[in-house]
Amino acid sequence: MSDLKSPIRSRFAPSPTGYLHIGGARTALFAWLAARATGGQFVLRIEDTDRERSTPESVQAIIDGMDWLGLDADEGPHYQSDRFARYQEVTEQLLQQGHAYRCYCSRERLERLREQAEKAKEKPRYDGHCRDLDQPVDGVEPVIRFRNPDDGSVVFEDRVRGRIEISNEELDDLVIMRANGTPTYNFAVVVDDLDMNINLVIRGDDHINNTPRQINIYRALGAEPPEFAHVPMILGDDGARLSKRHGAVSVLAWREKGYLPDALVNYLARLGWSHGDREVFSRRDLIELFRIEDVNRKASRFDTEKLNWLNQHYLREGDREKILAELAWHMGRAGLDAVSGPALDDLLTVQADRVETLVELVEQSRPFYEDFETFEAGAAKKHLRPVAAEPLSALRDRLANLDNWQPDALQQVIQDTADALQIGFGKIGMPLRVALMGHGQSPAINQTLWLVGKDRSLARIDQALAFTREREAGGR
Ligand code: GLU
Repeated sequence: MSDLKSPIRSRFAPSPTGYLHIGGARTALFAWLAARATGGQFVLRIEDTDRERSTPESVQAIIDGMDWLGLDADEGPHYQSDRFARYQEVTEQLLQQGHAYRCYCSRERLERLREQAEKAKEKPRYDGHCRDLDQPVDGVEPVIRFRNPDDGSVVFEDRVRGRIEISNEELDDLVIMRANGTPTYNFAVVVDDLDMNINLVIRGDDHINNTPRQINIYRALGAEPPEFAHVPMILGDDGARLSKRHGAVSVLAWREKGYLPDALVNYLARLGWSHGDREVFSRRDLIELFRIEDVNRKASRFDTEKLNWLNQHYLREGDREKILAELAWHMGRAGLDAVSGPALDDLLTVQADRVETLVELVEQSRPFYEDFETFEAGAAKKHLRPVAAEPLSALRDRLANLDNWQPDALQQVIQDTADALQIGFGKIGMPLRVALMGHGQSPAINQTLWLVGKDRSLARIDQALAFTREREAGGR
């Protein structure tokens, strides 16, 4: 095994057949961290040889997801679809050297082999029928198979899973080129990782069975295989493999739900990697402390509560500029115009402690940006009673004379009003809250006044006073 500190050149190699999901994002994060932690490089490669299932929309979704998470690549994206000539070239080389051969077996014959193996309760494997054919079969477009060694075994030291050994008897001659001239995954991945000088392949452990086959191809090409690190999968909080059923599995869906990229990065890193029992890691901490060897061998469970907790933490303590940019995005999505209310910076100061996500934050801040026509019925019934008219209007007069519209001064004005009328703070606070917000929930009342702003606050108090008068007139 190479020195733990030697620069890692890693890659993320998604197939663009869907969005960037949480599992893929975590694999990408580990590959990115491994490179950053060792002063190496991180390469992005789009594995789009399956022309039918690959779409430009998913390429874009993957790139957008990585951008949002801040997983910048030093190289790429490379596209496998640009490299068909190269796969042909390497196939020719393997054919010439006797490491590959053309196979003309019909679908029916392969199907028979499979059925026989099933009956005998054996693993289906190709029997090498076409290995030593010297004549092509007329009218049949062949596939190309790799001639896997017959004996011996493949041994490798996985940097997460430890030593793995597979006997060659368990492997068969896999197809490397389809009849239509497109390469298969196991072949293209070897050619690419070799050409791109990848020295550590980090990927999901669903690929662990492919690795011995790939190592045999490296050897046939006369190349030293890279090292491997297979990372375990992510389970939903019910212990089943993470799937759509568990809600937002796409990274960008977590954005839409109001999570911060730094929170998600911290969370995903801790999902399978640990450093003592510490939970909070900035990107810089992660880059300093991450070692691929410290990734857990066991699958980890997704825990939304912990993610919420981290998101709250980053809303309070995270990089302010990045949070504000994200907040602005959410305001736009919610149809709110940020210039029609308090500065987002002030909004964040008040609300960060009170919410777990930016979506909650924006929803609870609507009245700071948008006027409302009616008061929520229950809150109005309870708090905008005729007896509230006197304190509200006394307060209104004092507020109208206040120039220093700041939380401390506002607090003092409310207190002075309550003292002058010899009533408790709450007798003013609740009617005022409903007047300002339209309902009974808000931040501290002085902060609420501050955010609503002077003109709007006075207008809303007038609106509430009108409501109490109508109510009195109506005898309700
Ligand atoms: N395209 C493969 C996948 O998305 C890549 C596997 C690998 O990293 O080798 O599963």
